[in-house]
Amino acid sequence: MSNDWQAGRLDSDLQGAAFDTLAVRAGQRRGPEGEHGEALFPTSSYVFRSAADAAARFAGDVPGNVYSRYTNPTVRTFEERIAALEGAEQAVATASGMSAILALVMGLCSAGDHVLVSRSVFGSTISLFEKYLKRFGIQVDYPPLVDLDAWRAGLKPNTRLLFVESPSNPLAELADIAALAELAHAHGALLAVDNCFCTPALQRPLALGADLVVHSATKYIDGQGRSMGGVVAGRSELTKEVVGFLRTAGPTLSPFNAWIFLKGLETLRVRMQAHCASAQRLAEWLEGQPGIRRVYYAGLPSHPQHDLARRQQSGFGAVVSFEVDGDRDAAWRFIDATRMISITTNLGDTKTTIAHPATTSHGRLSAEERANAGIGDNLIRVAVGLEDVADIQADLALGLAAL
Ligand SMILES: *Cc1c(COP(=O)(O)O)cnc(C)c1O
Repeated sequence: MSNDWQAGRLDSDLQGAAFDTLAVRAGQRRGPEGEHGEALFPTSSYVFRSAADAAARFAGDVPGNVYSRYTNPTVRTFEERIAALEGAEQAVATASGMSAILALVMGLCSAGDHVLVSRSVFGSTISLFEKYLKRFGIQVDYPPLVDLDAWRAGLKPNTRLLFVESPSNPLAELADIAALAELAHAHGALLAVDNCFCTPALQRPLALGADLVVHSATKYIDGQGRSMGGVVAGRSELTKEVVGFLRTAGPTLSPFNAWIFLKGLETLRVRMQAHCASAQRLAEWLEGQPGIRRVYYAGLPSHPQHDLARRQQSGFGAVVSFEVDGDRDAAWRFIDATRMISITTNLGDTKTTIAHPATTSHGRLSAEERANAGIGDNLIRVAVGLEDVADIQADLALGLAAL
């Protein structure tokens, strides 16, 4: 029509386009103003042409927006772009990473279902299953991430879902995603992967056989520590159940945050490459330092799953954890001696962060649970940002000197 010239390239022109092209362009539809940047639609509702049009849209007979809890054009652009990057039929955006996990389970599981969750998942994910979902009749067990036999042995007739985070936080353990997918499918269950630490720039779980991918967009998808959000992506026969829960229960993504994440996605690959390059350098440097007992980073040949990481990921991520010689006091001295790096448990920011897992993210576990999870009192986690790597290293050297 008259505005076709402004619409510019259509999605059909992106058929076969590579990751970086999709990251910049997928999902955008230009409006009558011919705007080059993605439009932000801060609107809660939409106007109908007539009473009959309203009735048809409410009935679902005619496509179109009704209310932003259901659909919003900016959110849709973000969903289509992340679906393109994950190689998913459909993506659904949520208000946070946790609401993505909640919506996934509420959409796809019922009372009486059994779920296997990898033991080393994000602390709030464990709380969600243990404190809340269990109350509604969902049974949960926690096999160790790397132990395929334990996953096999943990399957029950009513196992509906396998949920893993790979690489894990903070020890960078990996799930063999293809092997777990095979196990799940042979049993008629689904495999969901929290792909937060790698992003689709480094790992594409659906291509490895997973059924669903979950993200905390708060981390690397934003990439600059500004806003909260989440995503569930997969086949539309599955994601439509997640959409159904979301539009009813309400933890949908705000259009403002969707717009920020769109901008984040445009630079995702180059940011992840820079994050990984600095993390690799720092991990190699730390591994040779006196005072450092062990470094956990899948990019090091000393990592027990280095080969799996090379097969499964196109980069090793930006989280480097290490044990110092000594106890909790030594770890705290190290952390407190840094000057530039931010003491915070967040990650996926341009700013490098440092944290003591045993007394923060994993502080609510008992000492025994922490020991089982391999989280020592002398463990420090660094999420490497985008500052000059020499400056990050110099700051970590202050920590080393304090040991
Ligand atoms: C942060 C995080 C979450 C939760 O996401 P929020 O956006 O904070 O709700 C889930 N999984 C992983 C691996 C995370 O790092």
